[in-house]
Amino acid sequence: MLAILSDVHGNLAALEAVLDDLYARKVERIVCLGDLIGYGPQPVECVELATKFDVVLMGNHEEAVLTEAVDFNLRAGMAVNWTRERVASEPGGQQRMDFLRNLSKECREQDRLFVHGSPRDPTREYIFPRDARNSEKMQAIFEKVPKLCFVGHTHVPGVFTESEGYQHPTQLLKGIYLLGEEKAVINVGSVGQPRDEDPRACYVTFNEDAVVFRRVPYDVNRTASLIYQSKGLAKSLGDRLKVGR
Ligand code: ZN
Repeated sequence: MLAILSDVHGNLAALEAVLDDLYARKVERIVCLGDLIGYGPQPVECVELATKFDVVLMGNHEEAVLTEAVDFNLRAGMAVNWTRERVASEPGGQQRMDFLRNLSKECREQDRLFVHGSPRDPTREYIFPRDARNSEKMQAIFEKVPKLCFVGHTHVPGVFTESEGYQHPTQLLKGIYLLGEEKAVINVGSVGQPRDEDPRACYVTFNEDAVVFRRVPYDVNRTASLIYQSKGLAKSLGDRLKVGR
């Protein structure tokens, strides 16, 4: 069994809870779709844990830390600068920056494609639930999907297919998507900053014929209070974790 997770965003409490959960399920391999860092108070610790994962891809927040923050609003841009400072200047910074610099933007295994955002623009393009009604966009995306494509980036979990459009995991029987003949884009949600109004950490497990969406409660206040203590991180970044928005 494979676990696929994304958008940890420096939230160590959430990442630890997810790792406990997936190890208890005897997951054999871990794939991370990027955005290990940014917004959250413990980017260094999250990168350290991720060095042991089987696959780690680059997200737009890694890209921003390695270059500069373009296309970010003020609050996110401030967080990028704060994160870069931590990641680069704490002990081991050189190796940590090298690890991030060497991340791939996509990974393909058989008929599965893994990216942070979308197959058209792996680190930047968003596939939002509302895009399911934009058939031109979805058609162009599905053309680049071998059979399955796992993404993150929007922090909203769910399944996109051409016949059903978008379905949130709560619309699926027991939160399970059974693979059929059809192509599917699976958004695995976010470990460290869910935005579907469910504050619990989100990830998926996958075996040959099913994708299971999993929610894991964690100590949100532990992460929020670290955010409130950090000068470079906006307080609202802590508040939003409590409501999952
Ligand atoms: Zn993200």
